[in-house]
Amino acid sequence: MTWRKQLQVRPGADFRLADVDTGGTPGWKKSRKSEAEERLHENVAALAGLEYKLYAENRRALLVVLQGMDASGKDGLVRTVFSGLNPQGCRVTSFKAPSVEELAHDFLWRIHKALPPQGGIGVFNRSHYEDVLVVRVHDLAPKAVWKARYATINDFERLLTESGVTVLKFFLHIGRNEQKRRLLARLDDPNRNWKASEADFVERARWNDYMKAYQDALTRCSTPCAPWYVIPSDHKWYRSLAVSEILRETMEEMRLKFPPPLADIAALRRKIK
Ligand code: ATP
Ligand code: MG
Repeated sequence: MTWRKQLQVRPGADFRLADVDTGGTPGWKKSRKSEAEERLHENVAALAGLEYKLYAENRRALLVVLQGMDASGKDGLVRTVFSGLNPQGCRVTSFKAPSVEELAHDFLWRIHKALPPQGGIGVFNRSHYEDVLVVRVHDLAPKAVWKARYATINDFERLLTESGVTVLKFFLHIGRNEQKRRLLARLDDPNRNWKASEADFVERARWNDYMKAYQDALTRCSTPCAPWYVIPSDHKWYRSLAVSEILRETMEEMRLKFPPPLADIAALRRKIK
């Protein structure tokens, strides 16, 4: 079975987030961890080649959406899986609480501006999904407002795919205990305790509400053109491997090709002095 089939929330199918084992490693034996690291390196190298072709082709784009609870590894994933890419063709955008200007527009305004251009890769560290997650959990908008957004998001993502943007959405799913372990480890590590924030502990207290909100976002917005992938993420090596495999599979399937040269190569060869 391909990685995509295995980890995808099948559009329209019965899916229960609570049934996913966050410590699982579907498709890879835990005893083969060191081989997973080798395979990840191969994938990172392959992605660099694929990015180069995407850039040269200059017709299509790739959007990678990352969601997950605090300490689920969104930053770590960007560092490992995207480390081999040419920064010129790739842009990472982190979405924080909206600014006053952003709040004065529709919720997709800031998202639309951050989309990758043709030939590019965009990575969203958090995304428009916050508008049906944190907004729902904290009642930042009336229910009627956030409920309408699922359909709006599906329409928006369809617009993107029809415009040549391949959309990949990953939910990095960690267990509540694993989150506790990671948040505590941050407090103890002088190189990482700058990352500790009170907000993480406040959000953690709403864990079950978040899981309900994720359950709905994942099922209502996993569509054939923009499916969700739920990545068991308690094991960092598995998380990075799985995402790199899905990226690679997807980009290979795009059948990217270098465009033919615009110039008359033979004439140029003759011309050079
Ligand atoms: P890290 O903690 O690793 O730096 P982060 O993404 O958690 O990364 P923070 O600055 O801690 O960054 O948190 C950003 C906060 O902004 C999150 O709590 C997120 O829920 C919130 N946020 C993002 N988008 C929205 C939105 N549309 N409405 C309200 N809050 C939002
Ligand atoms: Mg945070």
